[in-house]
Amino acid sequence: MNRRLSNVLAIAALLVASGAIVSAIWRVGGPDIFAKRSEPLPPAIEASPADPGDPPNTFGGSQPIQSAKPGDPPAYTRLPAPKVEPGARRIGIQVGHWMTDNVPPELRRLEVQTGTSWNGITETEVSLDIATRLLALLRSHGYIVDLIPTTVPQGYLADAFVALHLDGDGVGTAEGYKLAHGSRRGPFEQQLLQDISDEYGAATGFAIDPNVTSGMRAYYGFNWQRYRSATSPFTPSVILEMGFLSNDNDRGFIMDQPDVVAAAIANGIERFLSEVPSTELFGKDLLLPPTRQAFPTSSPSPSP
Ligand SMILES: [Zn+2]
Repeated sequence: MNRRLSNVLAIAALLVASGAIVSAIWRVGGPDIFAKRSEPLPPAIEASPADPGDPPNTFGGSQPIQSAKPGDPPAYTRLPAPKVEPGARRIGIQVGHWMTDNVPPELRRLEVQTGTSWNGITETEVSLDIATRLLALLRSHGYIVDLIPTTVPQGYLADAFVALHLDGDGVGTAEGYKLAHGSRRGPFEQQLLQDISDEYGAATGFAIDPNVTSGMRAYYGFNWQRYRSATSPFTPSVILEMGFLSNDNDRGFIMDQPDVVAAAIANGIERFLSEVPSTELFGKDLLLPPTRQAFPTSSPSPSP
C-alpha cells in the first residue's frame, strides 16, 4: 500500500472513530432528542441469545437487518412482523439432499453431500417417499404444503418447516431419531421440536439418539444469518433425523410402515399448529439480542 493511500485511510478511520464518540456523547449528555420521538413501539417478542460463534445480525451473511427503533434495548435488532394473508396455514417439508445438483453458489459445498445410503437404498429416496405421504396427508387436512428440495426459497415463510433426513453409521449399531433447531431461534422452535419428538417417538417406538451434532444446529436451511437459502427468522424450523438407514430395525420400520412414520410427523406438526395460532407466530416484531461486534472487518486483499 502506498503512503498516500495509507494516510487517507488513517484519516478516514479517525473521522469514523470521532464520529462515533461524538454520537455517543450526544446520546449520553446531549439534548434528549431521542426521547421526544415517543411513538409507541410495536409489540415484540425476543429471540434466543446468540451463540459465541454466530455471525452478526444479518441475512445471508451480508444483507443487514433493519436496525433497532428508539426505545429498544441497546444493540438489539428489530425485525418487523411479516404480513401474512389470512387463510390456510402453510407448512414446508424439505427432503434432505433432494435435487442438490441445482444449488446456488453459496451452497456449492453441499453438492458433494449426497446423503447416506445402505445396500443401494438412498436417504433421499426414502425421505422423498415419507415426504410425499406427509404432504398428501397434510393437504387432505386443509394445509398448504410445499415440498422443498435442497435449495430453500430465500426467507421462506411458513407456520412450520421440517427438514427430513436419515442417518447412517456404516456398521448398523447406531439407532434412533433426533431433532434440532437453530442455535439462533425464535420463541416457538423448541415447542415444534418437542411436539414432533413426542409424536414420532410414540408412533415408532424409536429411542432418541442423544448425539445431536453442531452441524444439525447450524443447518443451512434455517441458518438465516449465514445463508440466503434459508427460512425466515419467523418460520419455526427444525431438522428431523428420522432414524438410521444403516440400522435393520430403524430401516425396517421406516420402509415397511411409511404411512405410520408420515402420520407421526403430521401429528407433531398439527399439534404445534393447534397450540400456536398464526397471529402469535407472525403478530409481533422479533427482537434479536446483539451478536458479537457487528462492525465490518477489513477483508484481506491479495498482496501484489
Ligand atoms: Zn441427510
